Amino acid sequence: MKEDNIFEVIIIGGSYAGLSAAMALGRSLRKVLIIDTNKPCNRQTPRSHNFITLDGKTPKEISTLARQQVEKYKTVSFYNDLAITGTKTKNGYNISTLSNKTFSAKKIIFATGIKDVMPNILGFAECWGVSIIHCPYCHGYEVRNEKTGILGNGDYGFEFSKMINNLTKDLTLFTNGKSTLTIEQTKKLTDHNIKIIETEIDRFEQENGYLKNILFKNGTKHSIKAVYSQVSFIQHSDIPEKLGCKLTEQGYIEVDAFQKTNIYGVYACGDNTTFIRSVANAVYAGNISGAMVNKELVEEKFK
Ligand SMILES: Cc1cc2nc3c(=O)[nH]c(=O)nc-3n(C[C@H](O)[C@H](O)[C@H](O)COP(=O)(O)OP(=O)(O)OC[C@H]3O[C@@H](n4cnc5c(N)ncnc54)[C@H](O)[C@@H]3O)c2cc1C
Repeated sequence: MKEDNIFEVIIIGGSYAGLSAAMALGRSLRKVLIIDTNKPCNRQTPRSHNFITLDGKTPKEISTLARQQVEKYKTVSFYNDLAITGTKTKNGYNISTLSNKTFSAKKIIFATGIKDVMPNILGFAECWGVSIIHCPYCHGYEVRNEKTGILGNGDYGFEFSKMINNLTKDLTLFTNGKSTLTIEQTKKLTDHNIKIIETEIDRFEQENGYLKNILFKNGTKHSIKAVYSQVSFIQHSDIPEKLGCKLTEQGYIEVDAFQKTNIYGVYACGDNTTFIRSVANAVYAGNISGAMVNKELVEEKFK
């Protein structure tokens, strides 16, 4: 393999987690390649919140600034492509991309994030990250005291209703079918003036991602400003699993406190490893994985 294609570390995914890992490694003079398709999960959201120093900036502003800062470290290179396969080699790993390039490195960091799977309700995908919200800490303050809904049922619907009740007193839980709340949960919600609507949803009426009404299958409608919802997800990349990395029951890449997977030399960080989904957490985990990969390289040299 050509010298140009050989690195100490390959980071797959160059968003918040990947760039944070790259900064720690660049500052340790490591020869690093970031392979990225530049499709972070929050790209549809108008403003990113709750990341200190950059609260309220657009997702793009945050990643552009991060990339500019990482680009200062001359041992870090970038390659815009989709990593599609990974194989174990004698000294580490080979990673191949969609455009048929192969790169090798001793260590791999997966900072590939997750892909949200939109439910099959018309209008939902357009509103995702704009007026349909996954996390109250990220976007709840902006819709405080507004007419708000929660799309959920059972324990999730109950727990989320309790939390959002602190942000608005005009709250409705939409169970989208028969409620699976317990009698006790139902009583607690109604005691706190949280309404429960079981009617099945037909679609979300919206303009440019901003909700106007929820239209129900029985022909009625409910005007609304914001809805909280959780969606299912899949891993963006199947390479970790194919290399033998264990996944948790929920589908995250299993890592220890130092972002190590069960496969030697393979690390993972950011959304692909945890339900704690925030820019701050991705940056933290990337930073740890960069430092730990550097440490592993140091230890190997002094063995
Ligand atoms: C709609 C929405 C709004 C959000 N709002 C906020 C907010 O206001 N505040 C906040 O703190 N958090 C927010 N979050 C959470 C935050 O965006 C994530 O926690 C964060 O983006 C995770 O960073 P990451 O680097 O792990 O993954 P991502 O940012 O998703 O980046 C993954 C990167 O890997 C690349 N990639 C994936 N697979 C491959 C491959 N095989 N080859 C090459 N490249 C690949 C992708 O293109 C992408 O660039 C929001 C999330 C969503 C979904």
